[in-house]
Amino acid sequence: MAGNAAVGILALQGDVSEHISAFESAIRNLGLSIPVIPVRRAEDIPHLIALAIPGGESTTIMRLIDQNGMRRPIQQFEGGIFATCAGMVVAARDLVNETRFTPLDLIDITVNRNAFGRQRESFEADIPFNGFDTPFHAVFIRAPVITRVGPDVTILAEIPQGIIAVKKGKKLILSFHPEISHDLRMHEYFLNEILTKN
Ligand code: GLN
Repeated sequence: MAGNAAVGILALQGDVSEHISAFESAIRNLGLSIPVIPVRRAEDIPHLIALAIPGGESTTIMRLIDQNGMRRPIQQFEGGIFATCAGMVVAARDLVNETRFTPLDLIDITVNRNAFGRQRESFEADIPFNGFDTPFHAVFIRAPVITRVGPDVTILAEIPQGIIAVKKGKKLILSFHPEISHDLRMHEYFLNEILTKN
Protein backbone atom coordinates (compact mmCIF):
# COMPACT_ATOMS: atom_id res chain seq x y z
CA MET A 1 0.00 0.00 0.00
CA ALA A 2 1.13 3.52 -0.70
CA GLY A 3 3.08 5.12 2.09
CA ASN A 4 4.85 2.06 3.44
CA ALA A 5 7.91 3.19 5.43
CA ALA A 6 7.81 6.55 3.71
CA VAL A 7 8.08 10.10 4.91
CA GLY A 8 4.69 11.67 4.16
CA ILE A 9 4.03 15.33 3.50
CA LEU A 10 0.48 16.35 4.38
CA ALA A 11 -0.62 17.63 0.97
CA LEU A 12 -3.91 19.41 1.62
CA GLN A 13 -2.64 23.00 1.27
CA GLY A 14 0.63 24.91 1.67
CA ASP A 15 4.23 24.51 0.56
CA VAL A 16 4.16 20.78 -0.04
CA SER A 17 6.62 20.48 -2.94
CA GLU A 18 9.36 22.39 -1.06
CA HIS A 19 9.10 19.90 1.81
CA ILE A 20 9.23 16.96 -0.57
CA SER A 21 12.45 18.20 -2.21
CA ALA A 22 14.07 19.16 1.10
CA PHE A 23 13.35 15.73 2.61
CA GLU A 24 14.52 13.96 -0.56
CA SER A 25 17.83 15.87 -0.43
CA ALA A 26 18.29 15.31 3.30
CA ILE A 27 17.60 11.57 2.92
CA ARG A 28 20.16 11.43 0.09
CA ASN A 29 22.73 13.37 2.16
CA LEU A 30 22.38 10.88 4.98
CA GLY A 31 22.92 7.97 2.56
CA LEU A 32 19.41 6.65 3.23
CA SER A 33 16.79 5.36 0.87
CA ILE A 34 13.32 6.37 2.06
CA PRO A 35 10.56 7.49 -0.30
CA VAL A 36 8.89 10.86 0.30
CA ILE A 37 5.22 10.99 -0.67
CA PRO A 38 2.37 13.52 -0.59
CA VAL A 39 -0.38 12.36 1.78
CA ARG A 40 -4.03 13.13 1.07
CA ARG A 41 -5.79 10.08 2.49
CA ALA A 42 -6.28 9.12 6.14
CA GLU A 43 -5.51 5.47 5.42
CA ASP A 44 -1.94 6.24 4.35
CA ILE A 45 -0.98 7.80 7.69
CA PRO A 46 -0.41 4.72 9.90
CA HIS A 47 2.12 3.33 7.41
CA LEU A 48 4.44 6.33 7.45
CA ILE A 49 7.62 6.71 9.49
CA ALA A 50 7.04 10.46 9.69
CA LEU A 51 4.48 13.05 8.69
CA ALA A 52 5.38 16.65 7.85
CA ILE A 53 2.70 19.30 8.35
CA PRO A 54 3.77 22.21 6.11
CA GLY A 55 3.32 25.94 6.28
CA GLY A 56 0.33 27.48 4.57
CA GLU A 57 -2.92 28.66 6.10
CA SER A 58 -3.74 26.84 9.30
CA THR A 59 -7.50 27.51 9.15
CA THR A 60 -7.62 25.92 5.69
CA ILE A 61 -5.35 23.00 6.61
CA MET A 62 -7.45 22.24 9.72
CA ARG A 63 -10.70 22.38 7.76
CA LEU A 64 -9.32 19.98 5.14
CA ILE A 65 -7.94 17.65 7.84
CA ASP A 66 -11.43 17.37 9.30
CA GLN A 67 -13.15 17.08 5.91
CA ASN A 68 -10.81 14.24 4.98
CA GLY A 69 -11.30 12.36 8.26
CA MET A 70 -7.64 12.81 9.20
CA ARG A 71 -7.94 14.26 12.72
CA ARG A 72 -7.94 10.94 14.62
CA PRO A 73 -5.39 9.19 12.37
CA ILE A 74 -2.92 12.06 12.83
CA GLN A 75 -3.56 12.20 16.60
CA GLN A 76 -3.02 8.44 16.87
CA PHE A 77 0.06 8.39 14.62
CA GLU A 78 3.15 7.26 16.53
CA GLY A 79 5.84 8.15 13.97
CA GLY A 80 7.69 11.43 13.64
CA ILE A 81 5.91 14.76 13.26
CA PHE A 82 7.74 17.63 11.50
CA ALA A 83 5.51 20.69 11.76
CA THR A 84 6.46 24.09 10.39
CA CYS A 85 4.72 27.46 10.65
CA ALA A 86 1.00 26.79 10.00
CA GLY A 87 1.90 23.19 10.95
CA MET A 88 2.90 24.48 14.40
CA VAL A 89 -0.55 26.05 14.77
CA VAL A 90 -2.22 22.79 13.71
CA ALA A 91 -0.08 20.73 16.12
CA ALA A 92 -0.69 22.93 19.19
CA ARG A 93 -2.75 22.03 22.24
CA ASP A 94 -4.31 25.49 22.36
CA LEU A 95 -4.17 28.85 20.61
CA VAL A 96 -4.09 32.48 21.70
CA ASN A 97 -7.00 34.57 20.31
CA GLU A 98 -8.29 31.92 17.93
CA THR A 99 -11.60 30.16 18.45
CA ARG A 100 -12.59 29.30 14.88
CA PHE A 101 -10.96 25.88 15.01
CA THR A 102 -9.58 23.38 17.49
CA PRO A 103 -6.00 22.32 16.81
CA LEU A 104 -4.85 18.70 17.01
CA ASP A 105 -3.10 18.72 20.41
CA LEU A 106 -0.12 16.72 19.15
CA ILE A 107 2.16 18.44 21.67
CA ASP A 108 1.55 20.40 24.87
CA ILE A 109 2.19 23.95 23.64
CA THR A 110 0.16 27.15 23.39
CA VAL A 111 0.67 29.06 20.13
CA ASN A 112 0.04 32.66 19.10
CA ARG A 113 -0.81 32.41 15.38
CA ASN A 114 0.26 35.77 14.02
CA ALA A 115 2.71 36.79 16.65
CA PHE A 116 4.67 39.34 14.65
CA GLY A 117 1.79 41.53 13.46
CA ARG A 118 1.13 42.96 10.02
CA GLN A 119 4.09 45.36 9.89
CA ARG A 120 6.53 42.52 10.01
CA GLU A 121 4.91 39.79 7.98
CA SER A 122 8.15 38.15 6.98
CA PHE A 123 11.77 38.36 7.93
CA GLU A 124 14.91 36.26 8.05
CA ALA A 125 17.31 35.80 10.94
CA ASP A 126 20.27 33.65 11.95
CA ILE A 127 19.11 31.78 15.01
CA PRO A 128 21.32 29.88 17.45
CA PHE A 129 19.81 26.43 17.67
CA ASN A 130 20.43 24.01 20.49
CA GLY A 131 22.51 21.17 19.06
CA PHE A 132 23.89 23.02 15.98
CA ASP A 133 27.46 24.41 15.83
CA THR A 134 26.49 27.50 13.82
CA PRO A 135 23.21 29.49 13.66
CA PHE A 136 20.39 28.36 11.41
CA HIS A 137 19.19 30.86 8.80
CA ALA A 138 15.45 30.93 9.50
CA VAL A 139 12.79 32.38 7.20
CA PHE A 140 9.68 33.56 9.04
CA ILE A 141 6.47 34.19 7.05
CA ARG A 142 3.48 35.39 9.10
CA ALA A 143 4.99 33.14 11.71
CA PRO A 144 3.48 31.85 14.93
CA VAL A 145 5.37 31.68 18.24
CA ILE A 146 4.96 29.43 21.24
CA THR A 147 3.85 31.24 24.40
CA ARG A 148 3.76 28.25 26.75
CA VAL A 149 5.33 24.79 26.79
CA GLY A 150 4.31 21.80 28.86
CA PRO A 151 6.76 20.30 31.37
CA ASP A 152 8.17 17.60 29.10
CA VAL A 153 8.61 19.73 25.97
CA THR A 154 12.21 20.72 25.15
CA ILE A 155 12.88 24.25 23.88
CA LEU A 156 15.42 24.29 21.02
CA ALA A 157 15.34 27.96 20.02
CA GLU A 158 13.90 31.20 21.31
CA ILE A 159 13.89 34.84 20.13
CA PRO A 160 12.66 37.94 22.02
CA GLN A 161 9.11 37.47 20.65
CA GLY A 162 8.82 33.92 21.93
CA ILE A 163 9.81 30.28 21.55
CA ILE A 164 10.26 29.23 17.93
CA ALA A 165 11.44 25.61 18.05
CA VAL A 166 10.56 22.73 20.37
CA LYS A 167 10.72 18.98 20.41
CA LYS A 168 9.21 16.14 22.27
CA GLY A 169 10.10 12.54 21.43
CA LYS A 170 9.79 12.18 17.67
CA LYS A 171 8.05 15.54 17.22
CA LEU A 172 9.88 18.65 15.96
CA ILE A 173 7.82 21.83 15.81
CA LEU A 174 9.16 25.02 14.17
CA SER A 175 7.84 28.57 13.64
CA PHE A 176 9.89 29.12 10.51
CA HIS A 177 10.37 27.49 7.08
CA PRO A 178 13.50 25.29 6.94
CA GLU A 179 12.31 23.80 3.63
CA ILE A 180 13.07 27.04 1.78
CA SER A 181 16.37 28.13 3.32
CA HIS A 182 18.72 25.70 1.48
CA ASP A 183 20.08 24.46 4.80
CA LEU A 184 19.11 20.84 5.27
CA ARG A 185 20.37 20.49 8.84
CA MET A 186 16.86 20.71 10.31
CA HIS A 187 15.53 17.89 8.14
CA GLU A 188 18.65 15.80 8.78
CA TYR A 189 18.41 16.42 12.53
CA PHE A 190 14.76 15.28 12.47
CA LEU A 191 15.52 12.15 10.43
CA ASN A 192 18.35 11.22 12.80
CA GLU A 193 16.07 11.73 15.80
CA ILE A 194 13.23 9.57 14.49
CA LEU A 195 15.49 6.81 13.15
CA THR A 196 17.36 6.45 16.44
CA LYS A 197 14.23 6.47 18.66
CA ASN A 198 11.65 3.71 18.61
N1 GLN B 1 0.05 32.52 10.21
C1 GLN B 1 -0.33 31.48 9.29
C2 GLN B 1 -1.44 30.63 9.85
O1 GLN B 1 -1.69 30.62 11.01
C3 GLN B 1 0.87 30.58 8.98
C4 GLN B 1 1.78 31.20 7.99
C5 GLN B 1 2.69 30.22 7.29
O2 GLN B 1 2.55 29.01 7.40
N2 GLN B 1 3.62 30.74 6.52
O3 GLN B 1 -2.06 29.93 9.11
